[in-house]
Amino acid sequence: MGSPGDASKMEFDTFHNVINNVLIDTPTCRNAINPSTEEPLPPVPLSTREHVDKAVAAAQAAYPAWRDLSYDDRAGYIHRFADAVEANLDGFRGLLAREAGKPVRVASAEIDFALMHLRGTAKLRLEEELIEDSDERTASVRYVPVGVGVGIVPWNFPILIGLGKLDTAILTGNTFIWKPSPYSPYTALKLGELAASVFPPGVVQVLSGDKGLGPLLTAHPGVGAISLTGSTDTGKKVMAACAGTLKRLTLELGGNDAGIVCEDVDIPKVAQKIGFYSFLHAGQVCMSIKRVYVHENIYPEFLAELVQVVKNLKVGDAGDAEALIGPVQNRMQFEKLQDLYSEIPKQGWKVALGGPPDSASKGKGYFLPPTIIDNPPDESRIVVEEPFGPIMPVLKWSGEEEVIRRVNNTDTGLGASVWSSDVERAKKIAKRLEAGSVWVNTHFELSPGVPFGGHKWSGIGMDWGHVGMKGWCNTQAVWVRKKL
Ligand code: NAD
Repeated sequence: MGSPGDASKMEFDTFHNVINNVLIDTPTCRNAINPSTEEPLPPVPLSTREHVDKAVAAAQAAYPAWRDLSYDDRAGYIHRFADAVEANLDGFRGLLAREAGKPVRVASAEIDFALMHLRGTAKLRLEEELIEDSDERTASVRYVPVGVGVGIVPWNFPILIGLGKLDTAILTGNTFIWKPSPYSPYTALKLGELAASVFPPGVVQVLSGDKGLGPLLTAHPGVGAISLTGSTDTGKKVMAACAGTLKRLTLELGGNDAGIVCEDVDIPKVAQKIGFYSFLHAGQVCMSIKRVYVHENIYPEFLAELVQVVKNLKVGDAGDAEALIGPVQNRMQFEKLQDLYSEIPKQGWKVALGGPPDSASKGKGYFLPPTIIDNPPDESRIVVEEPFGPIMPVLKWSGEEEVIRRVNNTDTGLGASVWSSDVERAKKIAKRLEAGSVWVNTHFELSPGVPFGGHKWSGIGMDWGHVGMKGWCNTQAVWVRKKL
């Protein structure tokens, strides 16, 4: 047990739960694995029901005073927190690279965006909306915080996804408990420690644990709202668990984003962007392009160009300053992907780049060769499933109706993009795609003010922006008769 030290001189070697602004150790610890080396990372707490109860009680106690602050006051705290993170940038960058297997350039980009997110969100406000104003009465709608919010975070963007839930939750007046993934708890615990030096006790807390921790939080009667980012299977379990206490729920789940490339594109330019957006962080991005549909007139040329682009994206470990593609983040994901790669010879998929890993040359780390599959059948696993790794199919299309039908023919609907020199045509196609974000001549474009989430089995509700803020609130209708 201890108190948070001087935020400007943070060390990045020891890790504690953060409960009520006190650093708490647990009787038993666990550790995660560095995916670049397969070596164990330092011990982290293994929270029990007792830690959950303490954190929820502290969050409930802190809630009324935090809720009663003005938006500007709460935003001021968020800005001071962002400053404290910025003062420790190098430490967070190195730690994120180690826990997530992110090459430093990719880790830096995540932290830069997360800081921009904190500061951008702090400028947002949910204003009361006046719906009716007559001589007799007014009717307005306002958004009031739920109380205690919990953010359940995956391992692919441990900082950005955590902070993107935290900022909207606390800005709207909730208190917040952060549950990182057991595969990547390190940066979250350190951010919690920093938060303890900025926020009043109980406003921001972080608990680390194993797979038993999430269900303790989703079942807890003292928690009012959950925002989960994770797989569709987990989303269904969390939704079922929240039913017992009717928690407010936002689900950001898996996707299988498609990119539609029209026949009129500048091939080298578009291949460059699509190669980058598909293989960044070894394809472990919810909104990576995971299926590329290329018009038949340019198919061979585009595929050849894409192969060249991806060949030139450097694969390397967390310490490699030039690498863009790191290892897969954990053994579970590595084994799932090895199974998918093993389908290549079994199904006779045509390989344009890469292929099954060569077991003879296997060194340390969960690395897999960047792989492009050339025009597999629509019903094949590589098209239907979300691989969440450095492997992707390229498919051929000939008619607009046909490609729209094929892109929409899936249970998921996170993002989708259309690439064309004719922007109006691309916009028309994009608006017919069943996805929470549609992009024209880009993919991946995000902003703290714009909501992000999925249709169909990619989620319910959205994080970020005003929509994300409303996810942490109850709606209240206010009726006022002007005279008694
Ligand atoms: P996951 O579903 O295994 O885990 C996500 C989080 O949920 C972790 O913190 C985990 O401990 C927790 N969890 C697991 N089971 C739980 C339960 N029963 N109750 C409560 N919590 C539970 O996902 P992952 O493997 O960490 O991440 C990869 C998945 O996340 C992919 O499918 C990816 O597409 C998706 N993802 C979605 C988005 C998005 O914004 N839509 C963003 C990133 C990742």
